[in-house]
Amino acid sequence: MDTGSLDAALGISDSVTTTVGISRSIFVQKMAPPEKRNLSAVLLLTLIGFLCLRGSTGFILGGLAMMAVGVYGLYNSIRFNRETWPRLYRRWLDSWLCHKCGNVYHHP
Ligand SMILES: [Zn+2]
Repeated sequence: MDTGSLDAALGISDSVTTTVGISRSIFVQKMAPPEKRNLSAVLLLTLIGFLCLRGSTGFILGGLAMMAVGVYGLYNSIRFNRETWPRLYRRWLDSWLCHKCGNVYHHP
């Protein structure tokens, strides 16, 4: 049974395409919960920087720069996920969508 057609008609589902990425309706974007920051990119950057420390002087300098950017990004992302995200998520939980005018209201 296709349960997605009703959601799609109401505009409340993500439509996953076979091409690149996910296209979302404006409605879904407006009501989407805040996302936590993904740490994989900064972790990968830090790891690559670390591996560059084994190379020549140029590689070591580049590696140190990558590690500095990676660690800084990691610190920022962890801090966001720990301190900012719970506040945003709490606010999202307390928000309501008006189906008449489409506005989102915050009502704790
Ligand atoms: Zn309204």
